Amino acid sequence: MKQKQPVHLDLVEKYDQFKNEEIRGRYLTYAHIEKFLKDVGDDCDLKKIGESVQGAPIHSLNFGSGELKILAWSQMHGNESTTTKAILDIFSALKKFPDHPFVQQIKEKISFRVIPMLNPDGAKAYTRLNANKVDLNRDAFELQEKESKVLRQEFDHFDPDFCFNLHDQRTIFSAGSKPFPATLSFLTPAMNQDREILPSRTISMKVIASITNDLKKFVPNQIGRYDDAYNINCTGDTFQTRGVPTILFEAGHYNNDYNRETTRKYVVAAILSGLNAIATKTWESFTVEDYFKIPENQKLFYDVILRNARVKGKIVDIAIQFKEQLVDEKINFLPTVEKIEPSIIFYAHKEVNCNGDEVKKINEEELHENDIVNKIFLKSEVLIII
Ligand SMILES: [Zn+2]
Repeated sequence: MKQKQPVHLDLVEKYDQFKNEEIRGRYLTYAHIEKFLKDVGDDCDLKKIGESVQGAPIHSLNFGSGELKILAWSQMHGNESTTTKAILDIFSALKKFPDHPFVQQIKEKISFRVIPMLNPDGAKAYTRLNANKVDLNRDAFELQEKESKVLRQEFDHFDPDFCFNLHDQRTIFSAGSKPFPATLSFLTPAMNQDREILPSRTISMKVIASITNDLKKFVPNQIGRYDDAYNINCTGDTFQTRGVPTILFEAGHYNNDYNRETTRKYVVAAILSGLNAIATKTWESFTVEDYFKIPENQKLFYDVILRNARVKGKIVDIAIQFKEQLVDEKINFLPTVEKIEPSIIFYAHKEVNCNGDEVKKINEEELHENDIVNKIFLKSEVLIII
């Protein structure tokens, strides 16, 4: 007999019906999300909770009146927008499908508070940092910055039972040591230097195990786990230390998806899965061992590797990494030569075998490390890198 699909995964199947099509790509600022925030529907409460260093508003979205309180925040790092796109999609699902059994369940069992863009100044400048050039995820102990204080104030007043800390990760990460990109990664931060597994940490490990069990269906082999070195300056570690199960979500690379539009859907699935695990306590049937079975992330990827290329008469591999640059409100990906060596033992999201043929820059000069190469000459033919 066919097993009945869990209600949250049924909602994921309707993704195309609730995705915000006008919000796309990597560059996402407060101006892009303002219209959406002002039209979240009657069941959702939008609150202004503070301002950034440059005076941009910081909001929370609030849904449900259940006993279990979940606090989530996204774009604490301004250039990490995938989870914000996913959050907006989820709130549009809550608005569009008010009678869906999963939406009903969230409404009754959970109070969900989300700060969709904690660092609007960094979002505008497309940088990890805030306007004072501080990494907010290293400011949890000192609390020097306005944005860090806003988050702490929400944490203290809302008194959550769970926290979701939402981020993007670079394309360099593999899920384990096999050639699979880490499309999604998770971590339950440590609570102390000894990385002890105390009760609240056990709970978040089980919630993550429950999420990854659901997500295997979408991205088998492409889910990783971060190592848990303790840092009290990190927000997740601080909240975990205070006994609140905290889960770090990292949106990562999916094949040919540099705008993270495919990953966006899997982040939606992961967050819905986390909400479901908490609302229905399905996490209780998972174990700490299940969490440790998730392969640990490694830095094993370049964006492009040209294999067996002839440069200055020698056969080499050429590793290229895309650097992101904001130009005219769009993100350009600049393919930058990182390494030219006889044999590069890394994976790449795109590999080209040059079969010993000569590789030169498009102006016919020799290729060097740190060159930016959108196109190259391979045996006198133009090869487009991106
Ligand atoms: Zn981040």
